[in-house]
Amino acid sequence: MALDAWGLPGFLYMYHFRHRLGGTGRNGAEHYVGFVLGNDPQAVIDRQKAHKIGSGAKIMKAAFDQGCDPVLCRVWVGTRNDERRFKRSGHFDRACPVCKNGGDTLPLLVGSTQP
Ligand SMILES: [Zn+2]
Repeated sequence: MALDAWGLPGFLYMYHFRHRLGGTGRNGAEHYVGFVLGNDPQAVIDRQKAHKIGSGAKIMKAAFDQGCDPVLCRVWVGTRNDERRFKRSGHFDRACPVCKNGGDTLPLLVGSTQP
C-alpha cells in the first residue's frame, strides 16, 4: 500500500495580519495558514523563526517586509489534506481568534480539533 504523504499528521498554524497585505478583495490577504509535518511542536516554533527571517513562504516574507504585523493566532493538529481543505474553504476569518475578537489579540489558541 502506498503511503499518502498528504495524510501524514502534523500541525497547521494560522497567522492574522494586522494590516492587510496587497489590495482589496481576492487580491489581498489577511491570513496565512501553513503546515509542518511531524508530531514535535518544536517544528512549529522552528517554522515561525523561518518565516521571520524570510526563508519560509513568500507571502509571509512579504507580510513581514510590508509591515503587516503578522500574529500567530492558532495552531491545531492536522494533515496536508486538512490544510488544503481549509484553504479551499476560504473562511479564514471564521476560524481566526483575532477576527472573532474584533481585532484584539488573544493568547495563542492551540488545540487538536479542526476549526
Ligand atoms: Zn484574523
